[in-house]
Amino acid sequence: MADHQATAAQIAEAGRDLDARGLLASFEGNLSVRLDDSLILTTPTGAHKGRLAPEEMVVVDASGTTVGQGKASSEVKLHLAIYEERADVGAIVHAHPPTATGYAVAGVPLPHGALAESTALFGCVPVAPYGTPSTAALADSVREPVRTFDAILLANHGAVTVGQDLNEAKERMVQLEHFAHIALVAHLLGGAQALEPDQIAEISQMRESAGGGPIPPVCYPAPEQAGTITLSHDELVRLIADAVRTIG
Ligand SMILES: [Zn+2]
Repeated sequence: MADHQATAAQIAEAGRDLDARGLLASFEGNLSVRLDDSLILTTPTGAHKGRLAPEEMVVVDASGTTVGQGKASSEVKLHLAIYEERADVGAIVHAHPPTATGYAVAGVPLPHGALAESTALFGCVPVAPYGTPSTAALADSVREPVRTFDAILLANHGAVTVGQDLNEAKERMVQLEHFAHIALVAHLLGGAQALEPDQIAEISQMRESAGGGPIPPVCYPAPEQAGTITLSHDELVRLIADAVRTIG
């Protein structure tokens, strides 16, 4: 079992760090760490997560019932659903980082295969369907995508990232917002240019050699997002002739 006091101090520190990076506004966001098979330690509801003392953290069991003092995060169902789906996840961060959440609110997906580092890190970032905050509907909306992905946008709401430990989950939230910012700048400059499928496959191989999973096929850019295909005059004539023969 993770040490309760040390874990509580880590959550308080992670909250301060996320706040310092502009990823937590007012009372928004929540963090949690899995203490053991049946208990998680989470941030309290109605408090600024950048200014928490370790003793304010709240223990809840697998059913969401508080064990001991305090009132747990309003999004505890979301956290519990993720822990249920992913035995390897040890910590979760939910926040509303402004640029990534802008994509989630606009209903615009982050571009696939546009940035080598984020492709290596996330594969891609899916958007979970909308569910009212703090309800089981929101929790259920992430069950399927979180089996494959470590960072998920929540439609019309925010984002959630997971990690083996709190530092990993927190840094993924930071990296997600950074990627969203870059994607927005690329969009303003005329649009992200997608990597070619073989370039993504190479990144996927590197990911696997480092112990990660392969990049899922769904993360490869849609054909219209991929680079322009150029054919010579002869190639074009041959292609049309082949097509006509096939139809004939
Ligand atoms: Zn939220």
